Amino acid sequence: MLAKGSELKSHKLPIVKEYLASRVFALSGQNVHLCYQCQKCAAGCPVIDAMSFGPEQLLRLVAMDQEQVVLTSRDIWLCAGCYTCWTRCPNEINISAVMDALRQIAIRDGYPAGERDAFLFHRLFLNVIKYLGRSHEALMLGTFKLRSRVPFVNDLQAGLGLFLRRKIPILPGTSGAVKDVRRIYQRSR
Ligand code: SF4
Ligand code: SF4
Repeated sequence: MLAKGSELKSHKLPIVKEYLASRVFALSGQNVHLCYQCQKCAAGCPVIDAMSFGPEQLLRLVAMDQEQVVLTSRDIWLCAGCYTCWTRCPNEINISAVMDALRQIAIRDGYPAGERDAFLFHRLFLNVIKYLGRSHEALMLGTFKLRSRVPFVNDLQAGLGLFLRRKIPILPGTSGAVKDVRRIYQRSR
């Protein structure tokens, strides 16, 4: 007869799978199971045409634990974090926070970005904010074009129009709060 507890000791404890919805909840505080697929979020999303699934379908995929599909999807990188979906959602699900959590999980788990040059764009944006304390479109897009495989002439006409209407300053200016911004970066390492 086995001594008390020896049966347990002779077996390794089973590895409990952490569901994607739980990981999202831990990072964002958002419960994707609250979504009842009314599609109000998708109806207002400004980048829905470029997405493969759209916000409501992505939430469903998270709830169904379709990890691979979700974490390799371009949608999580295309989301502009505009909060439109949050303001329209009858269940007050902050999808922007969900997308943010999914990006973090995708990076941690080593999934390549589902949208070409997405990592590069995010890195450049964060670097510009870190060094200037504010965004500077001309600097960011110029560097992006040089380092990405996007042809330099793409968007040239739109960029020129914005420049001529003085919507984009050529020389970058530093924010008065640049030291505070850099402190935030140091603390969030
Ligand atoms: S608006 Fe809210 S409840 Fe409706 S589909 Fe979108 S996330 Fe789900
Ligand atoms: S936060 Fe993202 S998913 Fe929601 S409406 Fe904006 S772009 Fe679309």
